[in-house]
Parts: sequence; structure tokens; C-alpha cells
Amino acid sequence: MSTERLHLWINGQRAQANGIRVGDIFNPATGKVIRRVPLASKSDIDSAVAAAKAAFPAWRETTPLRRARILTRFRELMEQHREELARLASEEHGKTLADAAGSVQRGIEVIEFASGAPHLLKGEKAEDVGRGIDCHSLLQPVGVCAGITPFNFPVMVPLWMFPVAIACGNTFVLKPSEKVPSCSLRMAELFKEAGLPNGVFNVVSGDKEAVDSLLNHPDVGAISFVGSTPIAKYIYETSARNGKRVQALGGAKNHAVVMPDADMEFTTDALVGAAYGSAGERCMAISTVVAVGEAGDALLPLLKTKANEIKIGAGNAAGVGMGPVISAQHRDRIVSLIDSGIDQGAELVLDGRGVEVIGNENGFFVGPTLFDHVKPSMDIYKEEIFGPVLIVLRADSYEDAIRLINANPYGNGTAIFTSSGHWARRFENEIEVGMVGINVPIPVPMAFFSFGGWKTSLFGDLHMHGMEGVYFYTRSKVVTSRWPAPAEKTDNTLVMPTLG
Ligand code: NAD
Repeated sequence: MSTERLHLWINGQRAQANGIRVGDIFNPATGKVIRRVPLASKSDIDSAVAAAKAAFPAWRETTPLRRARILTRFRELMEQHREELARLASEEHGKTLADAAGSVQRGIEVIEFASGAPHLLKGEKAEDVGRGIDCHSLLQPVGVCAGITPFNFPVMVPLWMFPVAIACGNTFVLKPSEKVPSCSLRMAELFKEAGLPNGVFNVVSGDKEAVDSLLNHPDVGAISFVGSTPIAKYIYETSARNGKRVQALGGAKNHAVVMPDADMEFTTDALVGAAYGSAGERCMAISTVVAVGEAGDALLPLLKTKANEIKIGAGNAAGVGMGPVISAQHRDRIVSLIDSGIDQGAELVLDGRGVEVIGNENGFFVGPTLFDHVKPSMDIYKEEIFGPVLIVLRADSYEDAIRLINANPYGNGTAIFTSSGHWARRFENEIEVGMVGINVPIPVPMAFFSFGGWKTSLFGDLHMHGMEGVYFYTRSKVVTSRWPAPAEKTDNTLVMPTLG
């Protein structure tokens, strides 16, 4: 049986790539190649951008209300196909079906938010900013926007971008991760079925060649990126040099502070879910615990017991809590980082290396791994591991914990576990991180707030979705108007006008 070969989606239909390069898509639970994906060439990107550019004038003219109605139908279709999309995401990524379904739901909520386009795009108006003079602002689309997304959320992360961009009157070219492209192609079909005109949304799979072609294309006005920090920095610098607006979300090392007054059972359950859910391949995963004072000794035995109870297996198998990681190379990198933790003197409490899953012996599995007494100088602290490895550092005081987190180059998410309003209030004020949880381990903001980190977790100024997403995908224009009465005189002055 030949392996299925995917296509591109350009101008509302399936398109064959001009480029001859292809990539393999694996099922990480079996280790087998399940599909092949075209890796778009520069000429494929040119075709997708040309389709988006041609569709822009009519889409810009389509009223926000009509755009919103198409988005509402798209949301309904996404709900009808939620399980199908979750199955596809689980198959290509490895996460469990329940986890995949949850992330599809969080993505659908962005479409729901974007369906408020007529309200979201209202500008501001002030009457009589000067005598007889009014002022109002308009939010107008940028033009052709592009999105480049990572492997770890095949549905949700693309949905952070394109529904908001399209609601604002832009057209869009999405370059999903070449490891998990199928969900994006399926969403394009559903969006067309919802009534989206051809060319408004295009999907091109590919790698660096496709990305560079988008970054250098003169007809692309805005770039949204989510992925690792080194690539985010490259995307930001290249896009800015080319005069494009850009938001580039990067990697993470999310710390949870556990105060001695925390409820340890509650905290352990929260940490185990946040560290090992999706095999730790979430940008908001908790990978680092900072245990303050006596919290460490109380927490460690509980963490070890509960992490050890997680059932490992294929994401679509019953009762499985944690699936494989994305690739053999990624598994090997995680294992070598675990080796380095041992070599550099951390205490290995639970070892996930060499785990075997009966019936899935060739899958890319790493079991839950737990380290205690980790020091900031160790590689397992400095590197984003992006796997099921939780490390615990000990801190003498709340102040030491805060200093550690604020000195870390990443600033995506963080959390504090405490029963004291005093520590919680100080934490939210003092911590230099974009998304903060108080007794909430993965504080992913809802679609009507904005998602984004600080420091090297975000290059650019505006976060994704929420009103920051609307501002990213629109250019604001301010109009000052005066309607003089017939024969009314105006001052003929060369002095800078002042109103009021
Ligand atoms: P990645 O940076 O390797 O890839 C992301 C995208 O960039 C993909 O579409 C890929 O094709 C493209 N790309 C890869 N190398 C490139 C290059 N040299 N030049 C141009 N484009 C290139 O990331 P990934 O492995 O797919 O995803 C995991 C990373 O994403 C982690 O670091 C994780 O923290 C991060 N992430 C961050 C967030 C966030 O909100 N901050 C969300 C999800 C994932």
C-alpha cells in the first residue's frame, strides 16, 4: 500500500507543490511513516501569496458582519468535526485523544471570539475635540498576513492566528509545522464549506525554504510565529528588516513556586498534570518547581508516587495518560539531557529512560522523569527540555524563588501555590513573566484575553488573540473632521494649530 501524499491548499482548492522535496510524517506511537508532506518551494509560496493578494480587495470590502457570519458557520463545522480533528492531532503528534480534544476546544473559542468582529473593529469617536471639530479612529486590515506554527498544537496554535486575522479583513497564508500539517489542511476545507471565498485562507506545508520565502515576500504585510526561541528571534529580525509587522512567540521554562503553606495534595495533582500532560510538550508546561523551605520534603514523595502512576501508551489507547514525544531525535535529545542531569550531580528520583510500551516497541516514548536538588548551573535547568521531565530546585525563601525566576531568560508562564493572599499578591506584582497562575498550574488565557510571554518567550510587542490580536492584524487610522457652515471663515495662520 502506498503512503498517502498530502497537498497544499491554495485559492480554495487542493494544489500540487511545484517543489520536489517531501517530508515524512510519523505516528510517534508506532514509529511508522503514515503520510508524506510536500515541502513548498519559493514558487509555491509565490502562488499562495498571489492568491491571498488577489482575494484581499473583495474580502476587505465584505462587511465585518458578513465575515462574522462565515466565522460562526466555521465554528459550527469545527464543533461537528471536533473528534475527527482530535484524532488527527493525536495521530500525528502523539498526545492523548482527550488532551487533543481539549486543545481543539480552546482553538474553537478563538473562532468564537473572532465572530465578534463587528464589535471588535469599532473604533473610538470624540465629539468636539476642537470647536466644531470631531475625531474618530478606524481599524483597517493590513493585507496579506502569514502564520508559521509549531508541532505541539496542530489545531489550537493556528487558530490563535488566522480567525482573528481574517475577521479583521485580512487574507492569510498558514505554514503549519511539517510534522503535523493534516489538521490545518482539514480546517481549510471546513472554512471553505462555511462559505469563505477562495484565496482568503491558504495552507502551504514546508520548512525553512517556505518560511524564508514568506519572510522575504514583498506582498506579505504581517508575520505571526510560534515556535522555539532561536527561530522566533530569527523570524523577528528578518521580518523587521523587511519592514513587516511581526509577533514571534518563543520557547519557555515555566517555574512553579510552592510555598510551605500550600495544600500539598492539591499542588501535586496540579503539578503532575502540568509537567507530564502532552508528554511535557506544551509551551505552558510546568518544567521547573521551586520548592520554598519545608515545601520540598513534603512535595517530593507525593510527586514521585503520582508521576509513577501515569499510564504510558499510544494516545488513542484507553486509560493512557501520557503518549510518546514527537520524534526519535527528540526522544534522544531528552534522554541525553537526563544523562547530563545525573552527570552534573542532580538527584534522579524517577527515571523515564528506556521505557517500553508493549505492542508499541518502536514508538518514541520517554517515561515521567523527576529530578530533585537541581542547580541553576545544570543543563537540565538551562535548556528547554520540552519532554516529560520535571526538575525541582530548593529555595530558602520566597525572595530567593522570585530572584531565580526573574533571572531566567524565558518569561512565558509561571504559577505560585500558596494559601496566603499575601504571597499571591506579591507574586503577581513582582514576577517578570507574561502569564501567571495563582494555584492554577497552566494559566493559558481564554480567547478574549491575550496570550503571550515576556523576555525571550516573545519577540515583538503584541500578544496573540484578544484585543492585542485585533490590534496586531489592523492598522489604525485617525480622522479629524470639520464641516464649516457656508461662508464660515477659518484662521489663515501659519502657526501650528491647537484645538480646544
Ligand atoms: P520550531 O521552532 O522548531 O518550529 C516552529 C516553526 O518554525 C515550524 O513551522 C518550522 O517548520 C519552522 N522552522 C523550524 N526551523 C526553521 C528555520 N531554521 N528557519 C525557518 N523556519 C524554521 O518549534 P517546534 O519544535 O515545532 O515547537 C516547539 C517549540 O515551540 C518549543 O520551543 C515551544 O516552547 C515552542 N512553543 C511556544 C509557544 C508559545 O506560545 N510561546 C507555543 C507552542 C510552542
